[in-house]
Amino acid sequence: MSSTSSPTPGWTPSSWKSKPVAQDVEYSDSGKLSKVLSKIATLPPLVTPSEIERLRYQLSQVQRNEAFLLHAGDCAESFDACTNENISAKIGLILSFSLILIWGARLPIVRIGRIAGQYAKPRSSKMEKIGDREVLSFRGDNVNGLDIDDRTPDPERLLRAYFHSATTLNHLRGLLTSGFASLHQPRDWSLSHVRSPSLKNEFENIVEDLTDALDFSRTIGQDAGASFEHGGARSTVGEVDFYTSHEGLMLEYEQALTRECPVPKSVSTAPNQKGYYNTSAHFLWIGDRTRQIDGGHVEYFRGIRNPIGIKVGPSMKSDELIRLLDIVNPDKISGRVTLISRYGAGKVENYLPDHIKVVKASGHPVIWVCDPMHGNTLTSSTGLKTRHFRTIISELTSCIRIHSECDSRLGGVSLEFTGELNDEGFSVTECLGGSMELSEEQLGLRYQSFCDPRLNFEQSLDVAFLISNHYKN
Ligand code: PEP
Ligand code: MN
Repeated sequence: MSSTSSPTPGWTPSSWKSKPVAQDVEYSDSGKLSKVLSKIATLPPLVTPSEIERLRYQLSQVQRNEAFLLHAGDCAESFDACTNENISAKIGLILSFSLILIWGARLPIVRIGRIAGQYAKPRSSKMEKIGDREVLSFRGDNVNGLDIDDRTPDPERLLRAYFHSATTLNHLRGLLTSGFASLHQPRDWSLSHVRSPSLKNEFENIVEDLTDALDFSRTIGQDAGASFEHGGARSTVGEVDFYTSHEGLMLEYEQALTRECPVPKSVSTAPNQKGYYNTSAHFLWIGDRTRQIDGGHVEYFRGIRNPIGIKVGPSMKSDELIRLLDIVNPDKISGRVTLISRYGAGKVENYLPDHIKVVKASGHPVIWVCDPMHGNTLTSSTGLKTRHFRTIISELTSCIRIHSECDSRLGGVSLEFTGELNDEGFSVTECLGGSMELSEEQLGLRYQSFCDPRLNFEQSLDVAFLISNHYKN
């Protein structure tokens, strides 16, 4: 029997090269770049086709309103932050957040971390001024260094990115299969440092209710150690599904990890069907700066089987959005595309209703996710890049309301947050406000992000309770 290869006309893993590539990185040593890319192309995949297909299926459940998507993590990971403490704190926060959502919304949560590969950053300008020096902008640890004397793009960093992703993923898989995610131990997810009594109480109440429910299930013979189905999403009490993602910005790297593999039998539609999988992450998204219809990124994304995200900001024209969907999802497959809106609290009202309407009229089955972070960045009076909790909540609540007014539904949230603590157990101070009422004067205390400001542990739980209460009521 002959094998069925890529059904995407005119597409190959390198066809993006014939198109203009926004945010392209110029390397001075092309020989070194090819050597590194050849090496990466021989290294094992980081994730597998069956995991990717499982996520695709679970996202189709989100699209049908049977689950909710949580996409969260750092704006950018750094090689230095690849430590046990940081990875555990990040996973702990994602698990705590999703537990609060499950409890309120009574829906399974699909968890996708911005993790194990989120190294590259798009930049508004190629150069930046630091003191009296004009240097190349920092483009993320897989391109150049934050240190101003280390700004020349070095291909070797792509290889280091691969190995840091592999290490992160290995630790992640280890944590998730050793009981860390067990619903019997939610107190292990590092809530001990939370100082706000009301926040702590709210979380403790959920944990107590949950423990009761688990005891009850055990008593009536539904052992909580066994898995139970939440509409198809695997949700054992001891183990959870967890997926990785990053912005698919560095196309050479993405190409090197794109592999033609058999499509798992459970989902294949033809005998011996094969497909191209990006095996660097389960989910990849196209950023707001690289989503040009005729550009290299859209060309690359249209040919991979992974579920994908597209950032949708105020500059997206309605007809452009539909053309994009037609290109990346011509067969209108549910679960394939997630639209991540990021207009800004003051603009969401002007753009979201129209975008929802045209997508509905086109018949494209998308998931709508709200990213209330990227349209709400400002500079504090002390010169730090920050975001105000109030504005983040404002965009999020507007999104929820607009979707329901347009007979649509918000399918998830995309957040930049971190559970990182310093040695004394204090959270980072990068976003203003929240129940801890973080002030401008406090921003400088533990500002650790080298990219966008993240919600800290307490502020993230505030957001989780807000969404959870909304769906509960
Ligand atoms: C991001 O998600 O970190 C990002 C850069 O977003 P956007 O492309 O929406 O600006
Ligand atoms: Mn960001």
